[in-house]
Amino acid sequence: MQCFYHPGVEAVGVCKNCGKALCHDSLMELGQFLACKENEACQARVSTASEMIGMSRPFISLLKLRLIIAIVAFAALVVLVINFLLFAR
Ligand SMILES: [Zn+2]
Ligand SMILES: [Zn+2]
Repeated sequence: MQCFYHPGVEAVGVCKNCGKALCHDSLMELGQFLACKENEACQARVSTASEMIGMSRPFISLLKLRLIIAIVAFAALVVLVINFLLFAR
């Protein structure tokens, strides 16, 4: 597969937006995806896509983990308070 922008140069990847073959000089790494270095529309779309994927996964899992820890801690606290009130009498 040859680079779309440089005929005769072997391509190393494909643009995530337009699907054109890219060599090392023509590609731009945006997160885990590649985009055309020459095409700003490709860069904009690919960077948006990579940000959405890159941000959402760890962000949501971290948020869920914190939420679970908070719920467990709150439940433990409620149990402790109930036990304290029962044994205090
Ligand atoms: Zn492109
Ligand atoms: Zn190229």
